[in-house]
Amino acid sequence: MSIYVQLANLIFENINETLSDLEKLYPPRSLDKLAEVTRFAPSPTGFLHTGSLFTALVAHKIAKDTNGVFYLRLEDTDTKREIEGSGEELIQQLKIFKINIDEGYLEDEDLGKYGPYRQSQRAHIYHIVIKYLLENNLAYPCFCSTEELDTLRKTQEKQKVVTGYYGKYAKCRYLSAEEAIKKIKSGQPYVIRYRSHGNHERKITLSDVIRGDITIAENDLDIVILKADLLPTYHFAHVVDDHFMRTTLVIRGEEWISSLPIHIELFNALKWSAPKYAHLPLIMKLVDGHKHKLSKRRDQEAAVTYFIEDGYPVEALNVYLMSIANSSFEQWTVDHNSYEIEDFPFDIKKMSLDGALFDIDKLNYFAKEIIARLKANELATRSKRWAVNYSPELLELINRDFIYYENILNIEREKEKPRKDIAKFNDIYRQIRFFYHDLYLELISETLPFNETIKKETIISFLTLFIKKNDYSLNNSDWFNALKEIASQVGFASSAKIYKNNKEEYVGHVGDAAEILRISLTSSKNAPNLWDILQLLKKEEVDKRLNLIIKKLSE
Ligand code: GLU
Repeated sequence: MSIYVQLANLIFENINETLSDLEKLYPPRSLDKLAEVTRFAPSPTGFLHTGSLFTALVAHKIAKDTNGVFYLRLEDTDTKREIEGSGEELIQQLKIFKINIDEGYLEDEDLGKYGPYRQSQRAHIYHIVIKYLLENNLAYPCFCSTEELDTLRKTQEKQKVVTGYYGKYAKCRYLSAEEAIKKIKSGQPYVIRYRSHGNHERKITLSDVIRGDITIAENDLDIVILKADLLPTYHFAHVVDDHFMRTTLVIRGEEWISSLPIHIELFNALKWSAPKYAHLPLIMKLVDGHKHKLSKRRDQEAAVTYFIEDGYPVEALNVYLMSIANSSFEQWTVDHNSYEIEDFPFDIKKMSLDGALFDIDKLNYFAKEIIARLKANELATRSKRWAVNYSPELLELINRDFIYYENILNIEREKEKPRKDIAKFNDIYRQIRFFYHDLYLELISETLPFNETIKKETIISFLTLFIKKNDYSLNNSDWFNALKEIASQVGFASSAKIYKNNKEEYVGHVGDAAEILRISLTSSKNAPNLWDILQLLKKEEVDKRLNLIIKKLSE
């Protein structure tokens, strides 16, 4: 028995399976030739980052478009950074963003045959692979303490050489297997390192699906593959997992490009063919003229929960992220009058590589377009669901009378050019509160923005006449003609044009009269279509409001 096999047996005495057992257990998938197996592999270190949602969305889209498989793998080997419960939270948030998995880690029971999908439950698999590496002298135990490694780094910094555990600095790679066995038997703690054959002075060319060929220094670090807690590091774990889960295309953030040489070297050492890699650009934010990566600590937009709490329709964030992923997507939405990401012919090769700038105005634009397309009932139901969690004040209004609320939301909806003034559910309360008498009273206690060139007396006579004459049974255009009639009786011209040509003869024009009415009923110049407001408020409430204004103006 070779000395390396003895060393491997000592370290993994209970491991009897081999790589070929794993090959049989996790056979290649039988899928179409062009099908891509992609995955989303978050670490449970907190909330879902907007950049991670971007990655998940792209990976999901590609798997769907190619009749492939999209799976979720929880990368939880860094137990120190793990935040309790965040794995479950990730699942919930992906669901909220309608990213459904075909396979993978789920709260109760994993879905799919290539699991377990939680790295902390895959230790046995990693150990089988590491045993193979040890047997073939491709890995070795390292007994260096943290202090020794610190000293090494400091020495290297002084010598101005590349820092890290490699080449002549990698002390333990020169221990004989016999010495290693002795140390282990005497109880010395250790980790296991990969034995690199690279040289950082040599360049290699690797390929990235989006970036094409990348020329980069070879890896020569003897990276840790198994930590003292017997769990692997990311570098090693993802190689094993992407191989045995039969991933064909790894989609991840560009922060991993610099580690690609390590990963490819590991695939080669194991004689596995590496999947394709696509490194997505980071999402950036412009602050004081400088671009910086959306950061968990600094930027509220870094967490998808921010958008959920503010009441953005989830589709809007997805659509927005897709517009970052492919710049042609926005034009496609216009040409096809659609926001169905499923139908968009996405091409990852066309992804822009400049870190995308997070643009809240663009998100708001998409959100307004998407909300404008919802039926009133759907908007009412969804905003109510949101209000239950995030807005007691809106919920209270909705609960007074759901149908009334729905009717308010229906104003200028379901027409060719629907009103587009709501970007998020959080906008609704401010926009509709005037429909509720008590809130209207609060609003009119402030100064009202009447046009100061029109005399109070004129306003009073107009409103008085309106109360008397308005016919609630007329349709919108007949009603507007009737309004002209009423307005003309107190001296308003029937159009802006007529008024312009003869200003002295009139007190204003019908538009001014409509504005008086609008302000009197809503407290603001900005409100939806007047006729709709009158229809909803109805005569009794309208008269009450107009009498209040008359009283206020007469004081
Ligand atoms: N767990 C890694 C991360 O959260 C995933 C990288 C990958 O997708 O391979 O960044």
